[in-house]
Formats: sequence, structure tokens, C-alpha cells
Amino acid sequence: MLVLSGGTGTPKLLGGLRHLVPDEDITVVVNTAEDLWVSGNLVCPDIDTVIYLFAGLLDTDKWWGVVQDTYRTHEALASAGHDEVLRLGDKDRATHIMRSEFFRQGASLTEAVGRTARMLGAGANILPMCDESVSSMISTDTGTMHFQDFWVGQKGRPEVLGVEYKGAENTSVTDAIRKAVEQEDNIIIGPSNPITSIGPILAVKGMRELIQSKYVVAVSPIIECEPVSGPAGKLMSACGCEVSSRGVARFYEDLLDVFVIDERDGLGLRDVEDMNVAVVSADTMMTTPEKSSALAEVVMREMS
Ligand code: GDP
Repeated sequence: MLVLSGGTGTPKLLGGLRHLVPDEDITVVVNTAEDLWVSGNLVCPDIDTVIYLFAGLLDTDKWWGVVQDTYRTHEALASAGHDEVLRLGDKDRATHIMRSEFFRQGASLTEAVGRTARMLGAGANILPMCDESVSSMISTDTGTMHFQDFWVGQKGRPEVLGVEYKGAENTSVTDAIRKAVEQEDNIIIGPSNPITSIGPILAVKGMRELIQSKYVVAVSPIIECEPVSGPAGKLMSACGCEVSSRGVARFYEDLLDVFVIDERDGLGLRDVEDMNVAVVSADTMMTTPEKSSALAEVVMREMS
């Protein structure tokens, strides 16, 4: 099984999928365009969430960070006058230190992430979307900034004018991803932010073409005209996408075979029939592990 993931919606679905498929048989291709260096270490927020999920360490109240982590280093730095853009837990920072050391020693990001994941006990094959550095840069009415500065630093307040995947033009599909995709008939695109989570993965040079021949099942992160959480609505509007499941379907149009939308969503088959996509309605609100499992069963049923 191969899943494209960001750091919140899709990890919730992965929580259900891993009850149906052994971790060792799951490959997750994860967005890295929200990565940034903090106090000397490379933080990969979406990858970390996926690693912690599979290692049984994830704080599932926040869907990021290690459960019951402490913040002593972050607080010590702050009291000395060194402010960090992200509030990093101590155990979380240990992960970043370890991965950054592998990276500094010459490992590729794929190797550094794989080694870190194994050391923490995550059994899935967790792959960064590429080895090159890509950043989601948000153009706003107050200037262009990294996604983390926009969403965490500025609390998502500035008006968004556009989004650019800086560095995407220099990327290529890694051997590890190519090999994993070639072994699969199906690809799952989880309910992640199309603009800042799945968009960067699809912007890796050669990725769309690689996936196009596969049977793609996607889950919508939008219910009616609202994302379940996060800035997807604001970012989709700024990128000229309708903030609806239809807008998400259009974003994936060239890839999509089956689109799972929420049963509360008014989107009808007719809205996407010109796209030649099968629409399946289900409860997609994963507020409990049981609901994640139920949605995972729906997704598995739809795979070819
Ligand atoms: P990020 O990296 O933290 O932005 O995380 P993702 O991109 O993976 O997830 C954010 C998206 O997940 C948002 O657009 C939400 O609407 C969506 N999302 C979060 N929880 C759920 C859920 O329970 N169901 C559905 N359908 N979407 C969800």
C-alpha cells in the first residue's frame, strides 16, 4: 500500500489503515515543503508526525510532537532571548538532532529519515517526497514568507495572494519512491491540504507522470465549503481553486479514479462526472480511532 501524506488528515487515516495492513507493507510518501532548520536542526513536521504515528509515540491530541513531551530546551532558549518559530518538545528535538547528524554526515534525506524511523521503531517505509530542499512560500499582503512563518509565526492571519514551491524545479523522484510506486497498483491520496501537503509532492519532477498510470483513490479534506482544520480554504482560494470537494477533485483531476467525500457533503456525482471519477460517500470525520478504521475500510474496498 502506498499513501501520499501531509501531517494531520492523512496520518489520521493511516491510523486506521495500519489496523488492516501490516506496517511493513505500508509506504508513505510524505511532504517535506514545510521543513525548516530550527536552532541548527532540520525539522520535518509531516515526516515526524508519520514516524511518531508508526512508532506509537504521537501526541494524537495535537497530531504533532511526542506524547507527554517536555519543553525545557525550548523554554531555556526563550528565557535567554532566543525565540524559535516552532515550540519544539525535548524528545521531538532529539529526533531532529539525530536526523540532522545523519544528514550532516552525508546521508541523503531519504537515508536520514529511514534510519531515524527505524531507530524509533516505526515499521512502515517512510519516504520524504524528494531529497532536494523544497519550501512552500506563501505570498501575502505583508510579504512572501515560509509556510511555517505564515501559519505558526503569523497565525495564518495575512491575506494570501499565492503559493510557490521554491526549489521544486530542481527536484527528481528518488529511486526509493520509484521502486515503491512500481510495486503498487493503487495509490491513496489522504485527506491532506491539497496546496501545501499534496501539491508539493505532485510538484516533484516526474511524480505526477509516475502516479498517473496507477489507480488513485483520494479522500477529500473539505466538507461543504470548509476544511476540517487548517488553512486549506484560504490557500485554495488564493490558488484559484474552488474551496469544495469539487475543487479538490479538479486539483487531482488527471490522477483520480475514485474520490471519497463526506456523507454531509452536497457534492453529487454529476459535479465530477465530466472528470470520469467515481464518487463514494462516507463519514470522513476521523474524530476517533474507530472512525479512522471505518474510513480506512471504505478506502480499501475502493482499491482495484
Ligand atoms: P498538515 O501538514 O498539518 O497541514 O496536515 P495535512 O495536510 O495532512 O492535513 C490537513 C488537512 O486535513 C486539512 O485540510 C483538513 O481539512 C484535513 N483533515 C483533518 N482532519 C480530517 C478528518 O478527520 N477528515 C477529513 N476528511 N479531513 C481532515
